Amino acid sequence: MASFRSTIPALIAVAIAGCAELKMAPVTEYPVSAQRVILISIDGARADALPHLPTVLALTQRGVWTDAMQTVLPALTLPAHLSMLSGRDVTEYGITQNHMDAGIAAVMRINGMTPMFAWARAGHMRSAAVAGMSLIPASQRAEAQSFFEVDTLLATDGDAPALAGAAIALLRADTSVQMMFIHFPDADFAGHSYGWIDGTSVHTPAYRAALSRVDGAIASIWNEIAASVDAGHTALIVTADHGGGHGVGCNTGEAPTFTHCSAHPGDHLVPFVLVARDAAPRRLGIEPTTTQVGPTVGALLGLPIPERTAPPIALR
Ligand SMILES: [Zn+2]
Repeated sequence: MASFRSTIPALIAVAIAGCAELKMAPVTEYPVSAQRVILISIDGARADALPHLPTVLALTQRGVWTDAMQTVLPALTLPAHLSMLSGRDVTEYGITQNHMDAGIAAVMRINGMTPMFAWARAGHMRSAAVAGMSLIPASQRAEAQSFFEVDTLLATDGDAPALAGAAIALLRADTSVQMMFIHFPDADFAGHSYGWIDGTSVHTPAYRAALSRVDGAIASIWNEIAASVDAGHTALIVTADHGGGHGVGCNTGEAPTFTHCSAHPGDHLVPFVLVARDAAPRRLGIEPTTTQVGPTVGALLGLPIPERTAPPIALR
């Protein structure tokens, strides 16, 4: 879990003041394109959660996928999401804490790291994000929206079905949105409250229940967009920021099975599934990294992407 704290106004000022000219790499040929990309992050979904996400598992049959995507280290929500969305491993720049502050924004700007929503804005595409209040408290929504350069930001206090409902309503209300990020916090909540795994390394019932709830929410989103995916208009990516249950030495005050941060595969590896009409289904042979997710979204949309970002996932 992470939150934006009251330093956000200060960081916005720093961000604007320190905004160097962003160098964009030439747009490279990408074998698959889409007019709309939806990126779903299941907070706290371990790679071995995939068999317990039946909708997502079924999508692997028609997608490019892996159950061994490597997130950043430490495997924490904020560094992982910033890396996922910017295409850069922010931990290499000392961004290893789990709450937003002015320093993070400054470091990102100075080093040319921008969220994918900014790439969309530069390319005159509308973007949206739907997230839980845990990630973005209501009082800081405007500041977070400004920091991420996202056109529409919805933060709900409900669980996965409520978030999915909000996302679907937004898709229907604003068909001009071409980039959407949806964050489901349920599984991470369950892990921190009841443990990711028990003493015999089996997922806890609460964690499995949360996965099931999120999967049902993803099923409702899939039902909404399936025809558009089949038509080649929409592409869907489902992934996660980190796993959990092996947080030895994480210093969060929680038992290791109740937290995450480590290089153990239970914490460090997450699922990744990309479904697009022209992406030939296959299991990825090499372990891709979370930093490739944002650039993959950008490449699908044909957007210029800043220099020094990770390469998009190779689809052929
Ligand atoms: Zn997380």
